[in-house]
Amino acid sequence: MSDEIRKRAIEMLLSGATLLSEPCPYCKGVRVMKDGDALCVSCGKSPDKELEKKKDEPQNESPVKKLEEKLQIMTDELSEENDVEKQQNILKTINLLVDTISKMKK
Ligand SMILES: [Zn+2]
Repeated sequence: MSDEIRKRAIEMLLSGATLLSEPCPYCKGVRVMKDGDALCVSCGKSPDKELEKKKDEPQNESPVKKLEEKLQIMTDELSEENDVEKQQNILKTINLLVDTISKMKK
């Protein structure tokens, strides 16, 4: 996964994106969805993308804190998910979050 795609996926997660249950039609990768814009974190394609919105959001909370909150949500989701395939998707996202948090804390 390229750094640029990873960065975009993280930005989307930070602004409230959700994990799509449907895998990427191109590579079966994990996708995140925000405002109707789905981004594959593996290949970076966004087939559902309609428009790119750019808005300046106030940075009240630290990005790390937001990521940690997201990580908590994902962890809760994982514990409630019985579908093995979905569990693996959630795990991939958790790995991404953990990886990113550890890098940002350096
Ligand atoms: Zn893909």
